[in-house]
Amino acid sequence: MRAVVMRRRGGPEVLSYETDFPDPVIGPEEVLIRVRACGMNHLDLFTREGEQGVRPPLPHILGMEAAGDVVAVGERVTGVRVGDRVLPPPHIACGRCEWCRRGLENLCPHMQVLGRTRHGGYAELLAVPDRNILVLPPQMSYEQAAAFTVAFGTAWHMLVTRGRVQPGETVLILAAGSVVGSAAIQVAKLFGCRVIATASTDEKLEKAKALGADEVINYTQERFDRRARKLTDGRGVDLVIEHVGADTWKQSVAALAPMGRIVTCGSTTGRWGETDLWSLFGKQLSLIGSFGATYGELMQVLPLVVEGKLQPVIDRTFPLEQAADAHRYLADRRQFGKVVLTI
Ligand SMILES: [Zn+2]
Repeated sequence: MRAVVMRRRGGPEVLSYETDFPDPVIGPEEVLIRVRACGMNHLDLFTREGEQGVRPPLPHILGMEAAGDVVAVGERVTGVRVGDRVLPPPHIACGRCEWCRRGLENLCPHMQVLGRTRHGGYAELLAVPDRNILVLPPQMSYEQAAAFTVAFGTAWHMLVTRGRVQPGETVLILAAGSVVGSAAIQVAKLFGCRVIATASTDEKLEKAKALGADEVINYTQERFDRRARKLTDGRGVDLVIEHVGADTWKQSVAALAPMGRIVTCGSTTGRWGETDLWSLFGKQLSLIGSFGATYGELMQVLPLVVEGKLQPVIDRTFPLEQAADAHRYLADRRQFGKVVLTI
């Protein structure tokens, strides 16, 4: 099959486009998918470099968010059929542990991740376990599907489940141009919130406004915590949606109103953040972690995308053979929304 294969770790140059990589062989409970589109994530860059803990055995194929057609099923598979258009979940939970039984598959300690701990979707063919595969509604394109799971699953889990967002609240969303940021703006507006969004360029700020942001802040030109407090007459915001980490944490805490909450799902700029403990107890703040989404949440969000109430934001697509260029593009952080490989 055609695939983009990593035979060593390093820069984008280690991604080699190959036309004769062995086809995956499926087991009795696995499904073979002809991949049509694969969403790209910053995590792909970390995996390529061997950073952030995961160093899969080589050769390795990246790609968490694949969408495509079922071309073969194992003998014990009953949930999907050959010909179905599908979206396998990026996180494959065991289905048997305490957390899976409680419906919290995103906490499964045995979790496998497509493109991280097993081969992913930068390839023509992909083998996945048959559990929790979503069948795509006919209105949804492969590209939209490949841009859906991480963006809206993560944003929904952060705002709704973990952040308990309420109508009328003010929500500060960092990095509006990121996949999570662009989805979070839409979810917050769906809940009737006032949205303040940050980004690094005026072009990205304009796009954030087009998605529904009420106010925007260019964080390269002013401190966003001060600006957010000014925009709320000194009160501060109710909820901050974080995933930037070390560079922004202190300002995120400072931007909060009394009883404010920060929900974070990442730490792109570093894992340590300084917290003013006086603010934490004096203003009764909450610092909340969030990871991925549950299958139940994905099923809850999918109809909202089909109805057009939420729209995956696709920045641009690259053909599979240009995966290395796509990684360079992602590393430059010029994109607004999702970069998708087409296969
Ligand atoms: Zn489990």
